Amino acid sequence: MTRPVVGLACNQSVRDRYLSEVDLARLQEFADFRFHVFTESSGLTSAPPPNPAAEKQLAEFAADLDALLICHGAPMVTGTVLAGSRLRLIGELEGDRFATRVDVPAVREHRIRLLDTSHGSSMGVAEWALALALIGLRDAGNRFRRLINHEPATTGVQGNRELSGRPVSLIGFGHIGRRLTELLRPFGVDILAYDPYVARDLAPAYGVALADLPTVLAHGDVVFCLVPLTSGTRALLGAPELAMLRADTVFVNVSRGAVVDTAALLDRLSDGDIIACLDVFDPEPMPVDSPIRDLPNVFLSPHIAGVTIESRTHFFRFMVDELRLFFSGRETTADLTEAVLAERYGRMRT
Ligand code: NAD
Repeated sequence: MTRPVVGLACNQSVRDRYLSEVDLARLQEFADFRFHVFTESSGLTSAPPPNPAAEKQLAEFAADLDALLICHGAPMVTGTVLAGSRLRLIGELEGDRFATRVDVPAVREHRIRLLDTSHGSSMGVAEWALALALIGLRDAGNRFRRLINHEPATTGVQGNRELSGRPVSLIGFGHIGRRLTELLRPFGVDILAYDPYVARDLAPAYGVALADLPTVLAHGDVVFCLVPLTSGTRALLGAPELAMLRADTVFVNVSRGAVVDTAALLDRLSDGDIIACLDVFDPEPMPVDSPIRDLPNVFLSPHIAGVTIESRTHFFRFMVDELRLFFSGRETTADLTEAVLAERYGRMRT
């Protein structure tokens, strides 16, 4: 049997940072590998601008491949790129879950398997979400501020809580929500999630109950925001929703700042009875004079949750696992189907 040929189209930085020698060697056990450097501009949420010359180059590169992997720097994978190719699989390594570098209907029309491993950063995000919850429950942000400002330390049991056994809420039950649920298991917490789009049988399989947004907001001593930014989630948490958070709630946001109405959040925090631990904020980068920096009941990190050393290599490692499954005739696990995309965009499954 001839060995499949797998090509990677992306910028040099991805090639250097995302591909470990170990994973490349794992791939080369069953496939030949080719790399073509592309330098198209790349945003996490925006498609590469149309560039017929780059698309032609990509079509030429793809012509002799069985699988094409793309990442930052690659041009858009259009019908032109696919026409005349023998491609059986296209894989997106990293994006913002929305296949912005791929014309999805064109790929489907050509009956090519479409995968993405963009959830490679979810493990790091779930870890940091857990850390933020622990920091919030100890009011550790405020305690640290006082220490480094040479103010008298706040000690004692006041505002110093454990996570074990507490009610916890998840807004969004995607990859991050599910990984976080696994990390929370040893704490014996009681988890309620709001996610109207996820497959109905998934949450119970993780021991998580689903409920409507008001119920979920009022349930947790810790409320995690884990939804992507879509037209349906922009400012999902405004003044009425933030008012539903009980006094002493720790609110953790590790997904996207604009899911929360910033003015309403500042207003709610100024009441001083909840704590916010935020990895993301709207706008980003956070303005140096943003009033949120001065609030004692806030702990901040600069959008670092998923950008770990390990997550860079997870994307390609997961993809090699998928390629091995695919080329040995088994089922892949990271398929980018209509149902998966509908879930991410927050549309009902049909
Ligand atoms: P995912 O695509 O696996 O899951 C998203 C979930 O949100 C889905 O289950 C979907 O049904 C649900 N959802 C969509 N619209 C909703 C709505 N209106 N209300 C409730 N639920 C809704 O994504 P994921 O891997 O869990 O990641 C979630 C988001 O986290 C990403 O889209 C990204 O914006 C963000 N993220 C942040 C970092 C970081 O460094 N802080 C890193 C990676 C991802």
